[in-house]
Amino acid sequence: MLITLNKALNIILEQVRPLKALRLSLDQIAGYRLAEEIRSDRDQPAADRSAMDGFAVRSGDLRKCPCELRLVGEVAAGSSDRPRVRTGTCVRILTGANVAPGADAVVKVEETRETKHAVTFTKTIKLGANIRKRGEEATKGAVLVKKGALLGAAQIGLCATVGKASPKVYPRPRITVLCTGAELRSASDKVGGHELRDSNGPSLCTALSLWGYADVIHSTVPDDPKVLAAKVKRAVSEHDVVILSGGVSVGKYDFVPEAIKLVGGKIRFHGVAMKPGKPELYATVGRNKHIFGLPGNPLSVMTGFYEFALPAIRRLSGVDAKLCQAALRLPLAGEVVGLDKLVRFVLGKIVYHKKGTAVEPVKSQGSGDLISGGNADGMIVLPKKAGKISSGSVVTFRPWRPLP
Ligand code: AMP
Ligand code: MG
Repeated sequence: MLITLNKALNIILEQVRPLKALRLSLDQIAGYRLAEEIRSDRDQPAADRSAMDGFAVRSGDLRKCPCELRLVGEVAAGSSDRPRVRTGTCVRILTGANVAPGADAVVKVEETRETKHAVTFTKTIKLGANIRKRGEEATKGAVLVKKGALLGAAQIGLCATVGKASPKVYPRPRITVLCTGAELRSASDKVGGHELRDSNGPSLCTALSLWGYADVIHSTVPDDPKVLAAKVKRAVSEHDVVILSGGVSVGKYDFVPEAIKLVGGKIRFHGVAMKPGKPELYATVGRNKHIFGLPGNPLSVMTGFYEFALPAIRRLSGVDAKLCQAALRLPLAGEVVGLDKLVRFVLGKIVYHKKGTAVEPVKSQGSGDLISGGNADGMIVLPKKAGKISSGSVVTFRPWRPLP
């Protein structure tokens, strides 16, 4: 029995829990998700600060211009000096320095003329001009970065700002890729007419690395249920996610379901109403360990990976359940036809037209056609019974690499 894509994803999301959070230092967490809220430890800015290099003044003193004020001191950024500004005086101030007590505005240096011990001002100034008020950006305790946020340059900078040197983050799942098939050789091997080189292993590891999961190891396994079971057993003991390619269909040498049962795995679904990739399989072993069995044809591997394995991996790393399957909505530059009973995936290439970005369908010979896949950026997702979809219609596009 084939289940729908939505049902399949829901089954996965019911099983997957974000991994136990841990504390890591700021230089280790680029691309991680936050497992706690980052709150401001003090008002931002923490004091009234100058936004300019210039002179701190009492705005009332400049009501009649030009005027001259006596220069009585200086505050540089980082200085704790507090020279007081009294009527008839001013203080030199540098960008980022705390505003001298008594002053209520800062005049830009470009708008002044300095003589010995005095400064001439030619224009009036508004109360509060060029001063960043204490707490103007955030008050103490305000949430600056939300739980689940992706940690990029700005977010990690904010952790540093508030003194969070080791924020709590969701760890990266441990992942391994096993490619089944007696016919497989590696990229560096010579191949006979009856053999082919494993492309799914390098493809899957590259996809994982592009989405932030580097250093995943892939290996090949022959089509032998006992050898396969031993490999899977070892793989699940050391990893959170095991991605298998091949051996999941109904052929005589498709031993993945049997091997999963031999290691005590529970098959949650096997068969999804989609093309390519109908025999996709998902199983769990113990608590929060996940096995994805993707049919070996290279484009079936792609659909299975982006529809099921990647959302599960993202969820394990703390991505919100509603956001873990990345999709874009783009206008179609071409024509595509859906299927009656299956969701159809069509290779798509992103094109940049004068009117904006669109996705162009890429012709393919079927699920084994990685050569056409080499011209694509992802898959157009056509719901069942979509019929003919004409150029300009907005379609769902599953990108193969992350976009901002
Ligand atoms: P299977 O799902 O095991 O029946 O594999 C279906 C087809 O996919 C095979 O006949 C191969 O042509 C191809 N295939 C399987 N595994 C790989 C792989 N790791 N790399 C490239 N092609 C593969
Ligand atoms: Mg096979």
